[in-house]
Amino acid sequence: MARKYNFSAGPAMLPTAVIERAQAEMLDWNDSGMSVMEMSHRGKEYMSIAAKAEKDLRDVMSIPDNYKVLFLQGGASSQFAAIPLNLLGDKTSADYMNTGMWSKKAIAEAKRYCTVNIAADTSGNSFTTVPTQAELKLNPDAAYVHYTPNETIGGVEFDYIPDTGDVPLIADMSSTILSRPIDVSKFAMIYAGAQKNIGPAGLTIVIIRDDLLGKALSITPAMLNYATHAENDSMYNTPATYSWYVAGLVFEWIKEKGGLEAMAEVNRRKADKLYAAIDATDFYGSPVAINGRSWMNVPFTLADSDLDAEFLKGATERGLVTLKGHRSVGGMRASIYNAMPEEGVDALVAYMQEFASNNA
Ligand SMILES: *Cc1c(COP(=O)(O)O)cnc(C)c1O
Repeated sequence: MARKYNFSAGPAMLPTAVIERAQAEMLDWNDSGMSVMEMSHRGKEYMSIAAKAEKDLRDVMSIPDNYKVLFLQGGASSQFAAIPLNLLGDKTSADYMNTGMWSKKAIAEAKRYCTVNIAADTSGNSFTTVPTQAELKLNPDAAYVHYTPNETIGGVEFDYIPDTGDVPLIADMSSTILSRPIDVSKFAMIYAGAQKNIGPAGLTIVIIRDDLLGKALSITPAMLNYATHAENDSMYNTPATYSWYVAGLVFEWIKEKGGLEAMAEVNRRKADKLYAAIDATDFYGSPVAINGRSWMNVPFTLADSDLDAEFLKGATERGLVTLKGHRSVGGMRASIYNAMPEEGVDALVAYMQEFASNNA
């Protein structure tokens, strides 16, 4: 059986070595006589799996001790509501940057709970640029500033971390977490759905500075209250046990590969190769401003969109799958998270060159 190169934006590829390890441990984890799926989340075996996953994530991201790491459910989308509920405190407004489809969803949800000040807005250029620091209209009295460092659909990624002074900075890192080293201490909170660069769907990771806990509005559902989960080591209710375990295998895999520096080196190379192929000929184009080009999600168009279907058909025949762009952007999108091997990008680039010369 040949595994395909799956360019899906999420759920996305997992490292083959991780899936093989999960397979080897499927029926009997570590002589426990049971699958991880069958274990009580309160038993000592599962508790050891959960604790190791957290420790490995802390090591990999160098998460400072004054941050809690929560393993939740509900996806990044549930955090869109949980963030204002937990972090408004006695304030009534928050700053949001509107840089793409995911920002828009976060903003729509926040508007139920507070006044949203749009601190930056790139909708005027169809979300193809990154606002500069100087362009940000920040309110010093905002409860927090929310932004999306990597817009998965538009393929636009911030090339800097916004400076928000004393106002807590919150980042939806669903599609860029673990792609390179970041300084966690610059953020009040980082969150991410797992299904892009962490592990299987069903798990959501929240990394939050502990002084921000305990200020939730009284209407906050217990399940959306970060303090509830922090006080219970993310076991207030039954967590997504298997997804948490597989995420732990991914963190181990990242460590074995040399950590986030090593991930960044390969990711940069993969992205450079793909953008070079797009830029090499007028046959292809990238809608995104050069300084905002994402390392993880690479949208590209064919100058003649009548060839899109043929391009996709030929790609599929070569085992290069899920390249169709998001309906809002059109064209193609290649998502090249950590688990996409460099050979997959090489195969895509070779196919793009061949297709362009056959159809020029
Ligand atoms: C995928 C994605 C989401 C939605 O994640 P769910 O886990 O499906 O709720 C939110 N934000 C960004 C940036 C994403 O890429």
